[in-house]
Amino acid sequence: MKKLVPVPVSEEHDGRPGVRGRPGLSSLPPLSLYVHVPWCVRKCPYCDFNSHERKGNVPEADYLAALQADLEQAVPSVWGRQIASIFIGGGTPSLLSADALDQMMTMFRAYLNIPPDIEVTLEANPGTAEAARFQGYAQVGVNRISLGVQSFDDGKLAALGRIHDGAQARTAIEMAQRAVPRVNLDLMYALPRQTVEECERDLREAMSFGTGHLSLYHLTLEPNTVFAKYPPKVPDDDTSAAMQDLIVALTGEGGWSRYEVSAYARQGEQCLHNLNYWQFGDYLGIGPGAHSKLSFQDRIIRQARVRMPDSWMQRAMARDGSHIAEERRLRQADLGFEFMLNVLRLKDGVEGGSFIERTGLSIMSILPAMKHAVERGLLEPGLERIQATPRGWDFLNELQMEFLSE
Ligand code: SF4
Repeated sequence: MKKLVPVPVSEEHDGRPGVRGRPGLSSLPPLSLYVHVPWCVRKCPYCDFNSHERKGNVPEADYLAALQADLEQAVPSVWGRQIASIFIGGGTPSLLSADALDQMMTMFRAYLNIPPDIEVTLEANPGTAEAARFQGYAQVGVNRISLGVQSFDDGKLAALGRIHDGAQARTAIEMAQRAVPRVNLDLMYALPRQTVEECERDLREAMSFGTGHLSLYHLTLEPNTVFAKYPPKVPDDDTSAAMQDLIVALTGEGGWSRYEVSAYARQGEQCLHNLNYWQFGDYLGIGPGAHSKLSFQDRIIRQARVRMPDSWMQRAMARDGSHIAEERRLRQADLGFEFMLNVLRLKDGVEGGSFIERTGLSIMSILPAMKHAVERGLLEPGLERIQATPRGWDFLNELQMEFLSE
């Protein structure tokens, strides 16, 4: 993610056609709520998320008090807007007790306009203690569990530094399926020394549970992780490309369609929360390190909260706004790029009209870049849909860069 740098308002106008003045949004996009729970039992060596090792119990009472303070300060910016989905991510949210989740959900209902039956996802790890809580989570409103399985192979799980084994993953999946109607399994491929056959075994086992959603990620060695410092031996590009081809073929045969770069769903099982991100919708992120994108009639802003849990708790409780580490108004020059960065991840793209609807800009502002991308065979021609070609999807970075303003 790009570093957030505050920009002076005067930089808004960049002189290109269709971008004069402020964005004028005729309606605001759907608004999702993201809640960050920052603790994990142990930091995985490949992880670059805002997650912090926690010895002993999670400080639930302090965390919930700070979350409430954070939410109370955020409410004026989303006043009256209905929440479209809730995602409780981490970190390891399943370290929280069902009672803490109950308090959290009650708090959200008290402060926000939350219709009944919206998608409420909780990320969980397959440890036995956590799986025992799934029923309790379901009782307080969680209706989708996203399980960080990563692999069923004990050797690979150990190489990834995961604290669960394959047997615990299998048990947790069954417990999640009993507790909630919708389950996602996160699986990774191109793991240290993984062969195509091992990848296939993992995938087939994941598919055998018949969950509605699968998220299949390529392991990447991110900067500032243990793996970046001590890189494990990972499959070469040809092998990982063969794994990717196999994944697309097997999931397709099994009835999961790839609707986003890493997301595969059966019909009607797409993750609505993530879809809203990819359609350039709004989200309010609360909790340490959480990011927000919020639209107003005349501007769109991004915010990031203080990352370190203790510091975020202290600052949120001070109620002086200091828990917001960065806030910037999106420059009109960047809006086209940010929109495309998200929507082009979707296999079917979006309707052309959603560009003006979500950015407030005329499509003329990105027409030269669109034409160039069409000429290169990366973007489908026409203005009815904004959609990558199959080749554009294979070279998504290149396609997205077409829209980066100088
Ligand atoms: S469990 Fe997930 S969030 Fe926690 S350290 Fe491992 S990869 Fe990161």
